[in-house]
Amino acid sequence: MSRFFSEKYQELKAYVPVELPPKKFVRLDTNESPYPASPFVYRSIDQFEIDNLRLYSDLESNKLLKAIADNFGVSENQVTVGNGSDELLSFSFMAFQNKEGKFYFPSISYGFYPVYADMAHVKREQIQLTESLSIRAADYFNLDGTIVISNPNTPTGLTLSVGEIEEILLSNKDNLVIIDEAYIDFGGESCIPLVSKYDNLLVIQTFSKSRNLAGARVGFAVSSPEVIEDLNRIKSSFNRYNLNRLSVIAATAAMKDKDYFKKCTNEVKKTRGEFVKEMEALGALILDSKANFVLVKIPSMTGEQYCDTLLEKNIKVKHYDNPTISDYVRISIGLPDAMRNVIKVTKSILGVEEQRD
Ligand SMILES: *Cc1c(COP(=O)(O)O)cnc(C)c1O
Repeated sequence: MSRFFSEKYQELKAYVPVELPPKKFVRLDTNESPYPASPFVYRSIDQFEIDNLRLYSDLESNKLLKAIADNFGVSENQVTVGNGSDELLSFSFMAFQNKEGKFYFPSISYGFYPVYADMAHVKREQIQLTESLSIRAADYFNLDGTIVISNPNTPTGLTLSVGEIEEILLSNKDNLVIIDEAYIDFGGESCIPLVSKYDNLLVIQTFSKSRNLAGARVGFAVSSPEVIEDLNRIKSSFNRYNLNRLSVIAATAAMKDKDYFKKCTNEVKKTRGEFVKEMEALGALILDSKANFVLVKIPSMTGEQYCDTLLEKNIKVKHYDNPTISDYVRISIGLPDAMRNVIKVTKSILGVEEQRD
C-alpha cells in the first residue's frame, strides 16, 4: 500500500484471484461456458465493425437494449447494461442504500457481494444458510435493508422458486430486492416476469455463463423504469460508455440466437445430469444443482484434498476455506469429455476399477 491510498479503503479485502499453476489444465472452476459464441456473433464482427471502433458505442447499445427487452417482453426503459453483471451489482450497492445503509445477503454466496458492500461502505448483514445449505425464504421476510440473493445460489446451485421470491417481495415492500440470476438459464425459473408486478424487484443477468461470452463482459439489469434510471444515473456518472462496441455487438447477436442458446444450455443440463448420476454411483454427495456447476463432497476426503488431487491430474476445480463447505468442491460443467475425465480420475482416487468394454 502506498502512503497515498485512501483511508476509506484501507480495510478493503479485494477478491483474490486463484493462483494458477504454470501448466496446461482443464478449468472447471470458473463456470464459463465450454461452448463457443453463437455463429451470429462470428458473423456480426467483421472488418467494418473494426473500422467502426473509432466511434463511441451508444447507438449500438440501444440495439442491445432492444434485443434484451424483446427477448423478455419488457420495455427498453426497463433494461440497462453493464460491463459484466459485476459492474451492475457494484452500482447497485452504491445506488440502493436505505437510510440505515443495510444490505442483506446469504452468508455463503457470490464472493463479490461482501467486496462490493465494503466498497460502497454499507452495513452488511449476512444470513446463514440452512443445515442443508439452502436459502430459507422466510429468513428474508420483513427486513430493513436492501436484499441481494443469487438464484441459483453459488456455490450450491440450489434455487428458490418464483413463488418464494414473490413472498420475499411482498414482505419487503419498502426494500429493493435484487435477484442475481447469473445461472438461471440452467434449470431455474427467472423472476423477470415479476418485474411488471413489483416495483421493488431488480433482476440482474449476465452474458458470461449461459450466453457464452464471459470475455466480452456484458451483463444486464431488468427492473422498473425508475430503478433503471437510478442505475443509469450512477453508470453515467462513472463511465458513460461502460461497454465497448465489439462486446455490445457480440451480445446483441448472442441474444438474438435463441436456438443456439437453447442448444448450449440443454447440452450443459444433459452433461450435468449424466455427471451427477455417475459421481453419485461412486459415493459422492452432490447438491441438487440447477446451475452449470455442482457442489460435490467425497466422503473420504476434504475438499482441499480432492481439489489438489484433481489438480495433479490437470483438472482445476474450486474449494472453499469456509468451514461450512470446506468438505466440498465446486465443479463447473464442461464438455462431456472433460466430465468423463473427472469421473475417471475420481475412480482412480477411490480405487474403483475402470470398466473395460
Ligand atoms: C459469474 C457471476 C456473476 C458475474 O458475472 P459477469 O461476468 O460479471 O457478468 C454475477 N453473479 C454471480 C453469482 C456469478 O457467479
